[in-house]
Parts: sequence; C-alpha cells; structure tokens
Amino acid sequence: HGGHRQPQVTKVAIEGIKNIIAVSSAKGGVGKSTCAVNIALGLSSHNLSVGLLDVDVFGPSIPLMMDLKNHEKPFTNESNQMIPLQNYGIKCMSMGFLVNEDDPIIWRGPMVGSALEKLLRQTDWGHLDVLVCDLPPGTGDAILTMCQRVPLTGAVIVSTPQDVALADVVRGVNMFKKVEVPILGLVENMSHFNCPHCNESTHIFGNEGAKNTAKKMGINFLGDVPIHLQIRETSDNGKPITITQPDSPQAKNYKNISKEI
Ligand code: ADP
Repeated sequence: HGGHRQPQVTKVAIEGIKNIIAVSSAKGGVGKSTCAVNIALGLSSHNLSVGLLDVDVFGPSIPLMMDLKNHEKPFTNESNQMIPLQNYGIKCMSMGFLVNEDDPIIWRGPMVGSALEKLLRQTDWGHLDVLVCDLPPGTGDAILTMCQRVPLTGAVIVSTPQDVALADVVRGVNMFKKVEVPILGLVENMSHFNCPHCNESTHIFGNEGAKNTAKKMGINFLGDVPIHLQIRETSDNGKPITITQPDSPQAKNYKNISKEI
C-alpha cells in the first residue's frame, strides 16, 4: 500500500441511457455550447432520442440557447426525480433551471460534484440513445467528476483554429487519455468567414490548424463550422440554426459533424 494509488472510483451507468457524449473545449468562448446544442439537434434529426445536460454549473448556457430561460422550474415525479424540460424534441437539464440567474453560485469542488451527480442521476431521462453533455471549459472538477463517475462513450473537442487555442487542445486530449475516455474527434469552429458581399472566404484565425493538430495527435477530425452571423444570432436567441434554418450550409455543417459522431 504505497500511498500512491489513485482513489477507487467506479463508473455507474445511468439506466435507460445508451450513450453519453461529452462536448468539451480547452478555452471558453470557442463555441462549445453552440456546438453541443446543434450536435444534439443534429443527432435528433437522424432519428435518435437525445438529451442535453448542461454541466457548466457556474455559467449555464443551455437555458438560453434552447429557449427554456423563462420556463417554469422542472417538476419532480413520484420517485422524486426531476422531469427534464423539453424543447425542439430534446430533453434538457441545467443548473440554470434550478437557480435564479442573478444568484451567485459559490460552491467548492465537492459541491460541484454532488450538484452534477444530482443533475445526471436524479433526472427522469427515460430512454435515450444519446445524452450530450456540455462541459465547462478547461479541465476542472466538474470534468473530472464526469470522466471518473460516468461511463462516457467519448468526448468531442471543440477548438478555434489558432495556435494558442490548439496548444490547449493538446492538453485537453491528454487529460481525456489519462482518464481513459475515448476521443470521438475534434471540431474546428469559426474556421473561416465567407464574405456575404463578395463571397471570398477568409481564414481569420489561420488555415487548417485544427485539422493538422488532429492528424498530429492521431484523433478524428469531425468537421469545421465557419464564423457566421446567423449562427451567432440564432444561438444567442434560443433558435438554433439546425432547427430554424435546417437547409442552410451552416446547419449542414453541424449535421455532418453529428453524422461523423
Ligand atoms: P463556449 O461554450 O465555448 O463558451 P458559446 O457556444 O457560448 O461558446 O459561443 C460563444 C459566442 O460565440 C456566442 O455568442 C455564440 O453565439 C458565438 N458563436 C459560436 N459559434 C459561432 C460561429 N460558428 N459563428 C458565429 N458565432 C458563433
């Protein structure tokens, strides 16, 4: 008993859920939540039953992006499980549904863990083909809890193309490897900008950085998404582009990524 052993952690499956996919990013603001929402909707458009869990207990985005912000709080069923809120055919759960927006959430690590366990396991998900989890950025407590306690099918990593973001991707990939979570692949968000006036495509943050990083690290490249006004507007208004403009090239980008997954 050399004292160097990792604490014993057991992964406990969640009844009724076939696959759990974590959407992660090394940095904040790269479009991870937007991707999580549109990937969930993309999977759902391929006739899968899909849930969406907002693991970002400090800065939940799912209530806004899924247009569930002004919804009443979730009810509980007879076994005291919360009934997820539903929109666009997706069952959603978020800390944002349970607390008031302006309340400070001042929790220490262990409390984040137990809050997460509650969101995951005290929710009446029913039968799901896939539960998509929108992780907070980085490699903090919530992410470790997810990786150690939940049997994740795999992780999708979202990055922008520039070098500084990609350096963190390498760290993120290595973290998932260490906790033995398979990496489903890398998504390059904000890969380029198509000028709506002259149609010229500009690689604002550099060209093919994520694709090359994926290749170098031996992980799948799932696809790219351009920086686009309508993605920003629809995402921040709770009207995801895969729902409101399903035939747009941008929606197709997300649907193709979902297909790859
Ligand atoms: P994260 O979850 O990484 O913090 P978000 O998904 O919240 O990132 O996105 C940050 C901001 O960028 C939001 O305002 C969102 O609408 C916008 N955004 C995300 N992806 C794109 C994109 N491809 N084109 C334009 N805006 C985007």
